[in-house]
Amino acid sequence: MIDPAEVSEVSTIGELNGEEVKLVKLRGGFYIGIKAGRDGNNDPLAAGSHPAIVKYSIEKKFSGAYHPNMMKSEAFNESKIIPLSNNLNPEMWDKGFRMNMAKDEGSITLSLALKNIEVAKFEVVHKGETVSLKEWSIDPLVKNSQSDILKAMSKGLVSYCRNNQIKNVDVSLAKKELSAADKEWETIKENQNKPKAKNKHKFQAAEWTHPNGHPRCLLCGDEERTDGFCEGVK
Ligand SMILES: [Zn+2]
Repeated sequence: MIDPAEVSEVSTIGELNGEEVKLVKLRGGFYIGIKAGRDGNNDPLAAGSHPAIVKYSIEKKFSGAYHPNMMKSEAFNESKIIPLSNNLNPEMWDKGFRMNMAKDEGSITLSLALKNIEVAKFEVVHKGETVSLKEWSIDPLVKNSQSDILKAMSKGLVSYCRNNQIKNVDVSLAKKELSAADKEWETIKENQNKPKAKNKHKFQAAEWTHPNGHPRCLLCGDEERTDGFCEGVK
């Protein structure tokens, strides 16, 4: 599963049911926590761009059975982890999404994982009284839920700032993307009045999906049907 040529560092971070747990750092800066089984199999337990969040996810998932090693003076030991999954909507929670934040000196990483594998990330700068979203990324695998994900992560960041008396939160990068989705909905509403949309027509995929992740039609707003045609606005 892991290409040895991609590995830049491996360290033992703990023990799970008598077997070693290792943290593998890939050249791209991605971390994978694996259980190095005595049978020679490596089972991935968690993965993400921030080592402290990966470690935390393993501790959380296997609490009781997992025993982390006491590290000496390792980088990222100072990272503070703040769980933010309470900002997810129930649907996302049920699907297995979890959200955690790592706070380091001057920077914040917000990580959204699906079944312990990071699928979205916020890179945030924290300077004085201001917290601002600098960069975000979403795995193409969950692109269908992009708008829900951006909303949940922005909410998580804003709620953290509120709870910590940080007055200025700038999530305009995420908002810009979300307003593009809203704007498209305005276009769909206009299209719905056109004769073309009122009759049976070929489904025309919009850029953005419904909140449930299903593709929506740019002409009528209906969900895509298996035959590829919409019935038309009634
Ligand atoms: Zn349609």
